[in-house]
Amino acid sequence: MPDDPRSPKPAAAPAAFDTLAIHAGQSPDPATGAVNVPIYATSTYVQPELGQNLGYEYSRVSNPTRTALEQNLAALEGGHSAHVFASGMAAIHAVAGRLAAGDHVVCGSNVYGGTPRLFNQVLARFGLRFTYADTRQPQAVEAAIESATKLVFVETPTNPLMELCDLRACAEVAHRHGAELAVDNTFMSPYLQRPLELGADLVVHSTTKYLNGHSDGLGGVVVTTTERQAEDLRFLQKAAGAILSPFECFLILRGVKTLPVRMRQHDANGRRIAKFLEAHASVRRVFYPGLEQHPQYELARRQMAGFGGMMTFETGSLEAARRVLNRVRLCSLAESLGGVETLISHPATMTHAAIGAEGRAAIGLTDGMVRLSVGLEDAADIEADLANALAR
Ligand SMILES: *Cc1c(COP(=O)(O)O)cnc(C)c1O
Repeated sequence: MPDDPRSPKPAAAPAAFDTLAIHAGQSPDPATGAVNVPIYATSTYVQPELGQNLGYEYSRVSNPTRTALEQNLAALEGGHSAHVFASGMAAIHAVAGRLAAGDHVVCGSNVYGGTPRLFNQVLARFGLRFTYADTRQPQAVEAAIESATKLVFVETPTNPLMELCDLRACAEVAHRHGAELAVDNTFMSPYLQRPLELGADLVVHSTTKYLNGHSDGLGGVVVTTTERQAEDLRFLQKAAGAILSPFECFLILRGVKTLPVRMRQHDANGRRIAKFLEAHASVRRVFYPGLEQHPQYELARRQMAGFGGMMTFETGSLEAARRVLNRVRLCSLAESLGGVETLISHPATMTHAAIGAEGRAAIGLTDGMVRLSVGLEDAADIEADLANALAR
């Protein structure tokens, strides 16, 4: 909200994450004292005199509910500003929208499937060029960089193999070559991982997942580190118009208040379910950065504040995976992740069907893999459901 002479108190001093989640960007409504930021369902704003306004002119450009959410998310990632979009893909599109024909991007070879679809099938037609690299190795990222590289785009941990990218090392590589590092932080949320503190220049999220947390709305955000980036993103919101509606902004503001408590429980449940699966005779391998057998366990401990609720396990075959997926009762068979409910999915035929058998083989994704987004139900109930589904 713009400064308002009726504001009862000045904004509170900088605070810890749990406090920011509830209060950043959200002072009580100056007109009524309402503790929650209202849904400003308005397209336009009355101007008191020609050439004057109260800080808002038209809701594609800005809206007070959106301003509150953007201030909140900027605070949680420790960024300069945040800009929300209609979906995670719209946010990633905006990041790429800062580039021009001829520019080159290095992208992780194992990122969310929608990202290479946007890059290869839409943006390549506008003269952007993309090279895909194994972001587990900073040398592989460096080898893919060209003189025209403007952006390095990574995700960590990756979906569904839970491979990590060393963000500090990757930021150094990008900066040495004059490129910016953008990190899709959807899987961890700013509670468990803050890429900007490790040198990244931009963070994106699908707020559809952990930030909103309740599987009831789509959204995306780009968090910046410089005023130059902020100007570009404000301009893209206004020029291209893929902004988030005040209704969705309200939902995310509401969801984010419990982000810290939710993430602590996703993390606790995730660790327990990963150990349970690791010990189960019908499970060949578990991909979870919180297990000591994960090849990048040390990096996970250094770079993340917890391990979260995302994991993948190998059942051995398509038939075995199908059996598990069809026998679960509490876990819901569905795409998406990061909600309060446990979601279970089959990457090979669902999220990663589009990349084809060859594409899946290239990244080590098998037909026997099952992905879990561990929710907030009682961990014993989730465990019992999986035990029943895995029983021979
Ligand atoms: C879901 C997801 C996206 C895309 O977000 P939408 O809100 O579905 O557009 C991007 N990145 C990751 C890691 C995701 O999980």
